[in-house]
Amino acid sequence: MHVRVAVIGAGFGGLGAAVCLRRAGVTDFVVLERAGAVGGTWRDNTYPGCACDVPSHLYSFSFAPHPRWPRNFARQPHILAYLEWVADTYGLRPHIRLDSEVKSARWDDDALRWAIGTSSGDLTADVIVAATGPLSEPALPEVPGLDHFPGRVFHSARWDHGHRLRGRRVAVVGTGASAVQFVPEIEREVTELTVFQRTPPWVIPRADRAISDAERWMHGRFPFTRALRRHLLRGVRETHGGAFTGHPDLMRALEGLARVHLRRSVRDPALRRALTPDYRIGCKRILLSNDWYPALQKPHVRLVAAGLREVRGSTLVAADGREAEADTIVFGTGFRVTDVPIAHRVTNGAGLTLAEEWREGMAALRGTTAAGFPNFLTIIGPNTGLGHTSMILIIEAQLQYLAHYMETLDALGKGAGPGGRSGEPGRAALTPRREAVAAWNARLQRRLARSVWNSGGCDSWYLDSRGRNTTIWPGSTGEFARSTRTLDLSEYEVLRHG
Ligand SMILES: Cc1cc2nc3c(=O)[nH]c(=O)nc-3n(C[C@H](O)[C@H](O)[C@H](O)COP(=O)(O)OP(=O)(O)OC[C@H]3O[C@@H](n4cnc5c(N)ncnc54)[C@H](O)[C@@H]3O)c2cc1C
Repeated sequence: MHVRVAVIGAGFGGLGAAVCLRRAGVTDFVVLERAGAVGGTWRDNTYPGCACDVPSHLYSFSFAPHPRWPRNFARQPHILAYLEWVADTYGLRPHIRLDSEVKSARWDDDALRWAIGTSSGDLTADVIVAATGPLSEPALPEVPGLDHFPGRVFHSARWDHGHRLRGRRVAVVGTGASAVQFVPEIEREVTELTVFQRTPPWVIPRADRAISDAERWMHGRFPFTRALRRHLLRGVRETHGGAFTGHPDLMRALEGLARVHLRRSVRDPALRRALTPDYRIGCKRILLSNDWYPALQKPHVRLVAAGLREVRGSTLVAADGREAEADTIVFGTGFRVTDVPIAHRVTNGAGLTLAEEWREGMAALRGTTAAGFPNFLTIIGPNTGLGHTSMILIIEAQLQYLAHYMETLDALGKGAGPGGRSGEPGRAALTPRREAVAAWNARLQRRLARSVWNSGGCDSWYLDSRGRNTTIWPGSTGEFARSTRTLDLSEYEVLRHG
């Protein structure tokens, strides 16, 4: 089978790409999804308390507004239902191939197309859109002795709902965005809870509330009120962006709020000390919670302010030597972000994998296309992540770029050059010029140097193993949208059939 475009992944990115392609008049495409359902992040993360931390009116597609979000921060089942609704409403189902994991993709320099191997069969495609997600591959630390732990072990993104926690001694490793959501939920069930914390997060109050019937009615009846709400939510967050990127010192005000939140919530000075970060707020993801600190003070909950070093039978040993007994270990240790698995499966015409191309660190042109890999676009690619607002704003900006990319390819392919026949697009391919990729990234890295992520004094998943920030976009979302509004052909080489 041959298609014009193969989209990999059916989360926000892949579904958004599918809508974009249909709107651009491309109907010859498939969405390859390894799982048995759409939803990505919101299908896989079913842990208790899972919710977004950007208000739902902003954390949703602008072209598919949902007037009836039940809460400011919708919970996972609602976000998943929203994505299912998007797949239905925009007629995406016929394009989606579930249970189709992309195992390999190899560019053929002669045929100017990708040969793709999936768990459900092979196909070829002119263009690949990789929307495999920045946070889709759980990261489990290598802990000596873990293999011999007699109890159940799982990651928060693969929650084992068949395993009852009631009456058990549970250890949680990690105190990031997921743990802060599920610890207060499971604390009510378990007999003992030990939380291993390597680095304390900055936590600010969570302004969550139910969205009233009146508001929902108003948003349904007068759509401009919904748009206005989104606009305001976006605008407020955008004003924070400058402090993160260029003026980390301005973050002190927010740090003050977090300190007050901690002081009000935790009376015990020793515990408070253990929970006080020693880096600038924003350097790691800022967490929103009203029940994290109360949960840690329950009599059956213990905070061990050190990472997990070793497992000896059912005894867990922390880096500071403290021990805890457990029947179950839950890892809330995040994801493989800077070494994305799909990069190991994609090979260019010279036989080089994308992971090899990125051995010095991930780098793309406008967060989307990679040098040496023709007609390969990544949604939420290198340096497109955000610390303070909705990733959907970035995804939608990249979708504009995708639409222009397809238009440009069509224009180049139609009747031009050897092998190009009028009306049969696809006989041309685009590959970003190395100089353009290098210039784009040099500029980004210069700006990142003074950002809070690079200079805030922490070690975070935004930085790769060499300490290079290959994940964050150091500007406003408006600036990113402007930079991806059209495709600048001077940044590309055109490859022609034959
Ligand atoms: C718990 C949690 C909460 C979050 N909350 C927020 C928030 O509040 N605000 C925010 O902006 N962002 C949030 N994020 C980030 C979130 O991941 C993005 O906002 C967004 O969902 C990413 O969408 P995506 O489609 O790019 O990736 P995903 O949703 O991860 O989808 C990727 C899809 O690709 C599939 N896939 C991967 N590899 C292959 C392969 N080889 N073959 C076939 N299919 C493959 C996966 O199965 C998955 O379905 C959160 C992330 C997590 C984990």
